[in-house]
Amino acid sequence: MPDLQPSGPASLAGLGVSPGRTAGPCLRMAGPPALPAPNPVTDTGAELAVVGEALEAVAEDLRRRSAAVAGGDRGAAEILDALAMMADDPMLKEEAEQGVRDGLDAPHALEAAFARHREALASLGGYLAERAADLDDLKHRAVAAALGVPMPGVPSPGHPFVLVAEDLSPADTAGLGPDVLALVTVKGGPTSHTAILARGRGLPAVVACAGAAHLVDGTYIAVDGATGEIVTGVTEEDAARVREQDSAERARLAATSGPGRTADGHPVKLLLNIGSAADLRPDGEGVGLFRTEFLFLDRKQAPTYEEQVTAYADVFTAVPYVVVRTLDAGTDKPLPFLGLPEEPNPALGVRGLRVDRVLPDVLDTQLDAIAEAARRTGAEAWVMAPMVSTPGEAAAFARRARARGIARVGAMVEVPAAALLADRLLREVDFLSIGTNDLSQYTYAADRQHPALADLLDPAQPALLRLVELCAEAGRAAGKPVGVCGEAAGDARLAPILAGLGVTSLSMAPVCVPAVRDALARHTLEECRELARAALDGR
Ligand code: PEP
Ligand code: MG
Repeated sequence: MPDLQPSGPASLAGLGVSPGRTAGPCLRMAGPPALPAPNPVTDTGAELAVVGEALEAVAEDLRRRSAAVAGGDRGAAEILDALAMMADDPMLKEEAEQGVRDGLDAPHALEAAFARHREALASLGGYLAERAADLDDLKHRAVAAALGVPMPGVPSPGHPFVLVAEDLSPADTAGLGPDVLALVTVKGGPTSHTAILARGRGLPAVVACAGAAHLVDGTYIAVDGATGEIVTGVTEEDAARVREQDSAERARLAATSGPGRTADGHPVKLLLNIGSAADLRPDGEGVGLFRTEFLFLDRKQAPTYEEQVTAYADVFTAVPYVVVRTLDAGTDKPLPFLGLPEEPNPALGVRGLRVDRVLPDVLDTQLDAIAEAARRTGAEAWVMAPMVSTPGEAAAFARRARARGIARVGAMVEVPAAALLADRLLREVDFLSIGTNDLSQYTYAADRQHPALADLLDPAQPALLRLVELCAEAGRAAGKPVGVCGEAAGDARLAPILAGLGVTSLSMAPVCVPAVRDALARHTLEECRELARAALDGR
């Protein structure tokens, strides 16, 4: 494919992971340092010192950047601190020093040590494999420091720009200045740090955009972080117009507040998806999905009971209504401390609630901790299990949760079998929450992380909506709430359709709430139902 010149509008497709529209000149990240041919080591002591100084310089730079953002974005500061700890890892340093003792110069010894650590992480698959990019970034920084050249990083041209990168590192994403209008990456997935941080800041972002590899610095592009569309070759005037429209739209949305309602007042609760108390924002009507496994993703030791009570109480204290999801381990979110064996087909294996088949203590301790945190804070904690497949699983989970005094117990609907028997599930539990990310993966037999299958994973697909409708109808018949908490719930175009299908709540990344609130308020319930009928027909 030739480089994309600003000769006329053309469209590139990626995955929209953080909503918002903007436009401006694009600029690429400064590339990693070129590693020169190895130098023979004449002074091992001096070379060892370079290794230590380079790693310290990287850690120090990250700590400095963390301190600079600490007052504002806590999530960004935490990521920068975690990276500084990785750069400080004594095992990594020891391996690089061993490389020097074996005859490598400092840059090559660092390169080799990072490569070994990366391989180990990538072999774990899923979420942890996505973290392998973190190590690449640290490696480039350490090698640059050892070579005495500037560390790679975000350009600072002194004017607003769209940042384009092969795969944006968390360190760079976390340290972004106010000049950055949007993020576009060639690689990356919907669960990458780029996506999480961009959503946290309300910065439009598109990932997995292969065509972006050919963008030329300075080309004006328009970015739609909701649809994933990038238009190249726009004029400077067009770009200014897009930005003006976006600011006006943001100001209008920011002025909205209050609970979710259709134009004629039909309530659809607007809830937040969070991974920890740090993700909470002062909007929405509570938390609809607290992904507890996000608290413990990188842990090698199981979290203790007390540790869990504290983490859950932190959220319960801030928000009185919280739906806690019990640990959803496996496939894209492996939890190393569980010590689960590798599987040939992890998405179809022992994951989510199924982990309870082999490690029942884990769920018992977590339910104890949730119940205790709710008692201590007086919060209304609802609890739900991920990856429920049968009414029997739902019943067993409900028994164990209720035995601990947890008042409301629910099941996630992420497997088509659960949707098909939603009515029977609702005889066992008090509510359902539809995880459209997994439900579309399993309905369409399409890996949810696969950028090339994005069309199948589109939650507007009629077969998926049909399953949502089945659940919502079962909820209506039973008089019990049925919400959606997958990414579909944060898509303003889908919100009226989901409301028309009969769901009672939408739970989403906090940044998505204003646009979803606005989209609901623009349609009456009958209009939502008509939109739903059209979507089910594939119209
Ligand atoms: C889902 O599958 O839609 C969901 C909300 O759970 P997660 O994305 O954490 O798997
Ligand atoms: Mg899921």
